[in-house]
Amino acid sequence: MTDPVLLAQQLVRCASVTPADAGALDVLEAALTPLGFMCHRLNFEQEGTQPVDNLYARLGTAAPHFCFAGHTDVVPAGEGWTHDPFAAEVRDGLLYGRGAADMKSAIAAFVAAVARTGTPKGSISLLITGDEEGPAVNGTPKMLGWLKAQGERIDHCIVGEPTSTSSAGDTLKIGRRGSINFRVAVTGVQGHVGYPHRARNPIPPLALLVTRLAGHKLDTGNDHFEPSTLSFTSLDVGNAATNVIPAAAEARFNIRFNNEHTPESLIAHVEREARAVAKETGCDIVLSHGVSGVSFLTHPGPFTALVAGAVESVTGRVPDFSTSGGTSDARFIKDHCPVVELGLAGATMHKVDEHVPVAEILRLTDIYAAILTAYFANPPH
Ligand SMILES: [Zn+2]
Repeated sequence: MTDPVLLAQQLVRCASVTPADAGALDVLEAALTPLGFMCHRLNFEQEGTQPVDNLYARLGTAAPHFCFAGHTDVVPAGEGWTHDPFAAEVRDGLLYGRGAADMKSAIAAFVAAVARTGTPKGSISLLITGDEEGPAVNGTPKMLGWLKAQGERIDHCIVGEPTSTSSAGDTLKIGRRGSINFRVAVTGVQGHVGYPHRARNPIPPLALLVTRLAGHKLDTGNDHFEPSTLSFTSLDVGNAATNVIPAAAEARFNIRFNNEHTPESLIAHVEREARAVAKETGCDIVLSHGVSGVSFLTHPGPFTALVAGAVESVTGRVPDFSTSGGTSDARFIKDHCPVVELGLAGATMHKVDEHVPVAEILRLTDIYAAILTAYFANPPH
């Protein structure tokens, strides 16, 4: 039998700050191989990024195929810990260490659940990346491409991110909002404040555009999502002189959007508003943007019902379905199969003295075991 707490401690003791692996995947492979998993180490690199080591492990060859996705990399420890961030100390029932909550303990809980439930009537796999906290270029997206090329088909997936609120299983994430960053640069004509008719001030047009974009309601939300939001993060002119009309002004903003929008529809909206202001004011307006995630929703159905039922059988409580928070690797997996995020409570993730109660690791192990048992007894379609 695999002890989830000992395995979590072994993983935390590897200082796997992205993109370093520091032996974390070796620890995992050593735990999975005796359980019958075929392990594939997938090292990807791309120009301009650092190479990343990933692990795909599969037990069984038949369908249905249940996948657990996660990451062994962690964010830097930072300063001011009262417990060594890589010692994996257990004190007063709490496991301390970088990655204890996000998300090495969940990986350990899943491995222990597989060890407990035994050989499945189908297949179980782990898709573990070392590049979730970093650029996420040489991790999950490349692994999914590799799986497709090998003819590997996943039917359902759980991502073990720390998505719960106060106790494991109180919240399931069935979707996430998308995110786009925009920069808008307005160019006018520089001049003397005493002769403004000889200049073209870019500040009022920028202010007009900011007001229009900020005042526009993108949507009113829906059954599964809060309304989308547009937030300005900076407004810059950088002009120290009191007697000069500047030539240029710029602003930056972020849109967090639900499944009422696509990146394309939002970019078109922003471009339309910018063109209108440029036309009215005679200034040049240039937009640039970077999409850092698209929104997705796994519609409540047989799979979410199975997961919720299994959680309730352990915790006695029906989990909440949520779509809040930042982005996760589920945004890549949703193109391949239905995906739900379920892990520990993440109150201390990325913080100093990150920790998780040992009892919660055991509870999550029970939850994952209940899901696997229910899944292979009666696979959802
Ligand atoms: Zn994470």
